[in-house]
Amino acid sequence: PMGVCPAATMSLLRDNFTGVLRPWARPEVLTCTSWGAPIIWDGTFDPDVVQKKAGQKNLTIGLTVFAIGRYLEKYLARFLETAEQHFMVGQRVVYYVFTERPAAVPRVALGPGRRLRVELVAREGRWQDVCMGRMRTLHAALGGRLGREASFVFCMDVDQHFSGAFGPEALAESVAQLHAWHYHWPRLLLPFERDGRSAAALAPGEGDFYYHAAVFGGSVAALRELTAHCAQGLRRDRARGLEARWHDESHLNKFFWLHKPAKVLSPEFCWSPEIGRRAEIRRPRLLWAPKEYHLLRD
Ligand code: UDP
Ligand code: MN
Repeated sequence: PMGVCPAATMSLLRDNFTGVLRPWARPEVLTCTSWGAPIIWDGTFDPDVVQKKAGQKNLTIGLTVFAIGRYLEKYLARFLETAEQHFMVGQRVVYYVFTERPAAVPRVALGPGRRLRVELVAREGRWQDVCMGRMRTLHAALGGRLGREASFVFCMDVDQHFSGAFGPEALAESVAQLHAWHYHWPRLLLPFERDGRSAAALAPGEGDFYYHAAVFGGSVAALRELTAHCAQGLRRDRARGLEARWHDESHLNKFFWLHKPAKVLSPEFCWSPEIGRRAEIRRPRLLWAPKEYHLLRD
């Protein structure tokens, strides 16, 4: 860990959403990447200022989530209910729920300026295919109504719930989430795909951070590129009989290596309670559910 890097100044000037970032407020953690993107930690922004600035821009923020098979009953209601309490409160929000069973989507009471759309998707065979199929489906959705009605979009896993304010401080042209289990690991040990035959492969020495596929976001244009890249990589690997180590997440990490994210979210934005208490994790925004794969996956 180290403090503010000089490039932070430039990136803060460029960042027209948060305006007032205070990277120096958290000297014990890394608050800026080597390419000048802010890493957002609790305390490095003023929530009121951020909210006011975003409000002036009259944005519509999309939140996509897939709930297929048993994930729907197990997670979707709590995900949406807690999003109503914490996700982009005060902004216009449109949820996109992708499911093979629209009728089973719970009716969650939505605040003013917030709506929910349900998109029918075919159920893929294996759970890996469900996860990986998301990139293709998202790409199509971003090229359709979602892309027309939202200015920024977050794409999230459903097996988590909001536990704190997740606001416009997280918005940027492209946004990556530091993985809670890996943010303090030596780069050499990060679980990137290393098999050179895979489209997701990173060579030794490559890779900045290990990002979590449970949360990523950005402008519609940036996400169109991201999802196209990942869907193509997944398709290419499959044609060669390959599957990257962490599926769509491996391809996402390759994309963010090639196209550096404009903003990085600290692990406070997507935390695993199983890790236990850490001094630098002040206020988690999203908490992972315990992994109960035996109940969820066939
Ligand atoms: N998912 C789903 N049904 C499935 C498998 C996956 O709806 O059968 C969706 C769901 O949104 C889930 C995400 O894909 O959160 C990623 O899968 P999972 O959370 O199991 O992967 P992990 O976070 O463990 O890598
Ligand atoms: Mn998950």
